[in-house]
Amino acid sequence: MSEIAKLMDKLVSLCKRRGFIFPSSEIYGGLNSCYDYGPLGVELKRNVKDFWWKAMVQTRDDIEGLDASILMHPKVWEASGHVANFTDPMVDCKVCKARFRTDEIKPEKAGQCPRCGNKDSLTEARNFNLMFKTYMGPVEEQANVVYMRPETAQGIYVNVYNVMQAARQRIPFGIAQIGKAFRNEITPGNFTFRTREFEQMEMQFFVKPGTDMEWFEYWKAQRIQWYDALGIRQSKLHFHEHTPQERAFYAAAAFDIEYEFPFGWKELEGIHNRTNYDLTKHQEYSGKDLSYFDDTTREKYVPYIVETSAGCDRTVLTTLIDAYDEDVIEGEARTVLHLAPVIAPIKAGVFPLVKKEGMPEVAEKIYHGLKKHVPVFYDDGGAIGRRYRRMDEAGTPYGITVDGQTLQDQTVTVRDRDSLAQTRVASDKLLPFIQEKMAGYKRME
Ligand code: ATP
Repeated sequence: MSEIAKLMDKLVSLCKRRGFIFPSSEIYGGLNSCYDYGPLGVELKRNVKDFWWKAMVQTRDDIEGLDASILMHPKVWEASGHVANFTDPMVDCKVCKARFRTDEIKPEKAGQCPRCGNKDSLTEARNFNLMFKTYMGPVEEQANVVYMRPETAQGIYVNVYNVMQAARQRIPFGIAQIGKAFRNEITPGNFTFRTREFEQMEMQFFVKPGTDMEWFEYWKAQRIQWYDALGIRQSKLHFHEHTPQERAFYAAAAFDIEYEFPFGWKELEGIHNRTNYDLTKHQEYSGKDLSYFDDTTREKYVPYIVETSAGCDRTVLTTLIDAYDEDVIEGEARTVLHLAPVIAPIKAGVFPLVKKEGMPEVAEKIYHGLKKHVPVFYDDGGAIGRRYRRMDEAGTPYGITVDGQTLQDQTVTVRDRDSLAQTRVASDKLLPFIQEKMAGYKRME
């Protein structure tokens, strides 16, 4: 097995063992590319979403939140171009029956199956629409076809003036949304990197034509900083500018933020200057005037849109891959997740050093006190080293231990997951101590 496959294998097994991510419907053999988030995973994912929402909505005056429905009027997808163009050309291998996107076949190996290696075994390319289709109501006929949204953005576009008026916003302003999207991907894979059901975190910023490139540069800078604040190593992040072939015909500029995954540099988020394409299309298909009238300058225009479109599951996977590490402490191997405290599912473990001399009672009291404010975990099972290891593997940044000295002077030790430094802290000062450490956290490269 290659080193890359080994690393992904170890991560997948850690995710299952510790309850981050399980294969969907596992007792039935699983369902290809569908996953369930377990107790730790659901906390991690929620923390990632909260961190995004706080940065993009709650701490800003110029962005409003939205939660649009997954099923939308089918005309939306005609206007957006998804019915006609949201397709991937695919080929099948006539020998091993594997299916590929044509862009996965290297030009120098045209006609050769990347899986079984047989030459001239691939079919002609056929276009395949990636939208999931279903029927609304009991009659399964063409007139009742609806689509599971393949992106959250359209729900924002069609609501732009609802939101603008309700929230008394003026241009420039943005709308943010987190929600599920569905794509019938031809080749899902690499664990949760590419799946058919996933969550997006999208923000669409509406601006006056002519100011769009300034805003585009602004959002590029904001968004890469966000991944830094999330604790992702900067050395593993870069921008990739779309080539003219990659770029949508209506986009004036397009950059991806990419992360260096074990399987290569891949997209985490797209930042696009979409011009006035989307609102012009919806204007055309809905027959409604979607232009904006600026009453201070008396100008009327169809707003330009700068979009930041990130994948939530893909970001969660990135935090796990980036955090995963193996080291040796005091001669013993350990697996550790260097998750930033702000997204760690559990912020601290609370341990009595031994299960006697009144230590469990003191530790439980500390645990219940902290639990009202931050997620903490109580563990009195096994040697203290093993308890630390279990928390290291869950990405818990701090370990609080009640020992003999605690009974005399009410201080406890706080162990730091990354530096392993132990600090003695008064037990009634634990909460501010932990909060300050969390706020000052910086990822070690
Ligand atoms: P890709 O080239 O990887 O298919 P894309 O360019 O089609 O992605 P966008 O349409 O820009 O992606 O979607 C925005 C974000 O949504 C992506 O950057 C990614 O994080 C996430 N995303 C897109 N498709 C998937 C998927 N099938 N599974 C998980 N996340 C996805």
